[in-house]
Amino acid sequence: MRGPATDIDDTRTPNNSRNLGIKIKMTCPDCDSADLSRIGAIPDAFEFAGTKLESPLAGGSLIRCNTCCLHWRSPQPEKAELDALYRRGDTGSWQYHPVKRLDWQITTSILRKNHGITSVLDVGCFDGRFLDHLGADYHRAGIEVHPLAAEQAASKGIQIIGNDFSDLDTLSTQFDVVVAMDVIEHVSNPRKFLESLAKATRLGGLIIVSTGNTAAWPWRLMGSMYWYCRIAEHISFINPRWCKYTARNLGLAIENSITFSHEPSMTLPAFIQATANMFYRCFPNLAHNLRRGYARCKGTPYRHTFLTPPHWRSAKDHLLVVFERSGMTLPFRIVADEKLGASQSV
Ligand SMILES: [Zn+2]
Repeated sequence: MRGPATDIDDTRTPNNSRNLGIKIKMTCPDCDSADLSRIGAIPDAFEFAGTKLESPLAGGSLIRCNTCCLHWRSPQPEKAELDALYRRGDTGSWQYHPVKRLDWQITTSILRKNHGITSVLDVGCFDGRFLDHLGADYHRAGIEVHPLAAEQAASKGIQIIGNDFSDLDTLSTQFDVVVAMDVIEHVSNPRKFLESLAKATRLGGLIIVSTGNTAAWPWRLMGSMYWYCRIAEHISFINPRWCKYTARNLGLAIENSITFSHEPSMTLPAFIQATANMFYRCFPNLAHNLRRGYARCKGTPYRHTFLTPPHWRSAKDHLLVVFERSGMTLPFRIVADEKLGASQSV
């Protein structure tokens, strides 16, 4: 991250922000290291899972563990509070068309090219759209917290086997492949989450995780103001270094690591997003005033989001990692389509 990181003693909640049972973590939630750095302040959030909040949710600070390289938001709402916010969330927030989800395409390509795979568990499957896209050739199961979304997934033929990540630890069945796409950033203890995914995976099977990548250069440039970490429901952030450290500790092998853009854009929109972010990075107050002035000219109401950094969805700031649960290996090799426009490194 750019700029000097400071001691985490600076971690405070702004007085005008909502307090949600705040617990300041003085050690890393993953490796328990006390060697931490504060990257900077995360702007307060005004909506959660697509639903406007009655009062802003405190952004807190972005913290980095210098041992395992996990990054996280501190303080964080308690799990019960987060679960309640998710249940009130807008079901339209996570509805994507499969063509627009490069991680879905990469994962589908890997699965279809490896004939030894017959069962797939999607953790955080939402309305079952990914598994539906994958097709009925597999035994498809899902875990989903949102009751309406889980119902919709079940109507697509997906077997819902749980509604909470903790259900992973008590499953009676193991799967050839367990996927968690755009999920790990929502959990407070990613190492424990990856361990639970591994428990649900059969020996020699695969665990596929996709999420934002703190090592991507746009994120390093913007630091704690990066659009991905200002989203209130995103609380933990990983990178290739964390994956290597944690895989080694859990006895997993990394078969592949692929970087990609969550929303690839044409040159002009990508240029505009990059320019807007760099402008905000240098002149956040001026950016706020310009947004407010523009709204006045257009006769549109003032929005609190004028205070927050602009999105940068075109940035190549996402990571898909294929872990293998050690032991007897499945009779296949990991191959993804090169035409998908993603970069691979093992
Ligand atoms: Zn750590």
